[in-house]
Amino acid sequence: MLQFQNTNFKDKKVIMRVDFNVPLDAEFKVTDDTRIAGAEATIKKILNEGGSVVLMSHLGRPKGGPEAKFSLKHILPTLATYFPGVTIHFADDCISDDAFAKSSALKSGELLLLENLRFYPEEEKGNPEFAQKLSRHGDTYINDAFGTAHREHASTATIAKYFDTDHKGFGYLMAAEVENATKLLHDAEKPVTAIVGGAKVSDKIQLLERLIDNMDNILIGGGMAYTFLSALGGKIGTSLFEPDYVDLALKILDKAKSNNTTIYLPSDNIAADKFAPDAESRIVDSYNIPDGWMGLDIGPKTIEQFSSIIKASKTILWNGPMGVFEFEKFATGTFSVAKALAEATDAGAFSLIGGGDSASAINKSGLEDRVSFVSTGGGAMLEFLEGKELPGIKAITG
Ligand code: AMP
Repeated sequence: MLQFQNTNFKDKKVIMRVDFNVPLDAEFKVTDDTRIAGAEATIKKILNEGGSVVLMSHLGRPKGGPEAKFSLKHILPTLATYFPGVTIHFADDCISDDAFAKSSALKSGELLLLENLRFYPEEEKGNPEFAQKLSRHGDTYINDAFGTAHREHASTATIAKYFDTDHKGFGYLMAAEVENATKLLHDAEKPVTAIVGGAKVSDKIQLLERLIDNMDNILIGGGMAYTFLSALGGKIGTSLFEPDYVDLALKILDKAKSNNTTIYLPSDNIAADKFAPDAESRIVDSYNIPDGWMGLDIGPKTIEQFSSIIKASKTILWNGPMGVFEFEKFATGTFSVAKALAEATDAGAFSLIGGGDSASAINKSGLEDRVSFVSTGGGAMLEFLEGKELPGIKAITG
């Protein structure tokens, strides 16, 4: 695979998979351009060296054909703000004659954005003919879309077959994601702590099993904690509960014990009388949540305990919020964990925010610049950390 950093792109035409699946408002304006910003450095390096770039992405979930609301042309004004002075062309179909005419005519230093790949059902099917057509847009294939690396789609995986090893590689974003997650799993300074939260145990079972092999401490918060608490005989009121996962929760606790990994569950919680931002709330013992009350956040004692473990760690992974942080009243646990992570990082720890909703939680807390790395790929990062081989990575590394 080509080493992006050490490659000079003069006169090269790069077909690049980016993740421009950005949120749009009712007027089709981009409301969060983090993903465009994420690809900026990779694109700029190629353009500055005298190469040209054909960008391809998906946007939203069109139902197998063109739909105006999912057109990538909506992002053109935002894209232009990142590349002042650069000519940006747009092809309103990713494999039409017009699209190929535009990519052939593309000059050094110019950009071409192709229309939404998912207007063709062949994209998600990983169709080889479709992938081969896409490959004709460039002489070099760069994948910088970590967010879709866990999908075996035409533009994320199949296309790589049509380029030899020296003409395919990862962009800066993808390389950084892989490097940081690999460091966390295989080259971590101890003590290593994972904070795992979010709604459901069922979503995080594989992650927990895998983390037990690598972590010294696992702090469990969020909705998933209550299945564990119930499994241990706690009274959890109307908190989130997955009865089918009680046995697995116990198995995980056992496995952790025999692996010398300490799992910490909340000792107190903020319980609410209903699932609403204006619910009545009170601090409760985690093993004794009153009937009719549901735990929506971790409590002050737990915050203190989790924070001190985080601050004593040298390597920290955070996946999933500690409570319903979308409601201000139940966001304290999540934001306190974010603060402890920032302080640990200031003191020299390596911190990675990856998977689940924790990336939006850290952004909401305003502390994203005080952690080591915020992953852009929720599902992809989760699968990477679970130890799965991602098709988008394998397609390039072989
Ligand atoms: P995930 O995508 O797995 O990180 O889950 C994130 C979601 O979990 C967020 O939308 C939170 O509101 C939700 N969540 C966290 N804690 C709880 C809880 N105690 N009860 C219900 N939902 C929760």
